[in-house]
Amino acid sequence: MKVTFLGTGTSQGIPVIGCDCNVCLSDDLKQKRLRVSALIQIGDKNILIDAGPDFRQQMLNVGINHLDAILVTHEHNDHIAGIDDVRPFNFRSEKDMPLYTLQRVADAIKTRFPYIFRADPYPGAPRINLEIINTEKFHIGPIEILPIPIMHGNLPILGFRINKFAYLTDVKYIDEAQIQQLQGLDYLVISSLQLEKHHSHCTLDETLAFINRILPKKTKIIHMSHTMGDTSLLEAKLPKSVDFAYDGLQISMNYFISDII
Ligand SMILES: [Zn+2]
Ligand SMILES: [Zn+2]
Ligand SMILES: [Zn+2]
Repeated sequence: MKVTFLGTGTSQGIPVIGCDCNVCLSDDLKQKRLRVSALIQIGDKNILIDAGPDFRQQMLNVGINHLDAILVTHEHNDHIAGIDDVRPFNFRSEKDMPLYTLQRVADAIKTRFPYIFRADPYPGAPRINLEIINTEKFHIGPIEILPIPIMHGNLPILGFRINKFAYLTDVKYIDEAQIQQLQGLDYLVISSLQLEKHHSHCTLDETLAFINRILPKKTKIIHMSHTMGDTSLLEAKLPKSVDFAYDGLQISMNYFISDII
């Protein structure tokens, strides 16, 4: 199982248009962040988490020619704005793209992209098949996926656990029951926006406190704002097993179907 971090930035990306802060002006490629998204590859299956405004560029960057499913964590624009660009995958596969998400998020997608879901869609419109999930396990082929309900401010959203890997973005609060569902991880991916308090995102300290309760073997932090500062300077303050993800980073882990069936 391989995970590629296609984007690791918050909704504006980094650099932010017009900003002259030291992070946005940095030459360090690790400080340049597209909107958050990750590709999970298991066997011949390509599964994407979120399809934000940088989706097209991210697909070109990772160089895949088929996508088997999209998992959507929530309906904010930085997580869904790119779904019109599934069309090349539709044309190649001649199939609808399955998109797994909550009913509320599916309804928002229908409102935001009404032309996709018309009874008589324009020829060449994207073809998306909304698959409604809740907190029950579901399967994509042989791959078992456990949705993890978390809170993004007042908004209930989903993270996902696959085997000993979990991906939680836009986190503000995780209930004790979900902390229990996240035990035994080899890799945790979890968001942290900045150092200052925010109504719907964890600060770095809040994220570290959740990591301390989940106790994964390794953690990668995502969804940073430029207001986090230069993350290379913050690494020293992190525990050894925790660091900031960056665009293009790949991690691999063993995936045993027998572990979860
Ligand atoms: Zn900036
Ligand atoms: Zn959000
Ligand atoms: Zn977001």
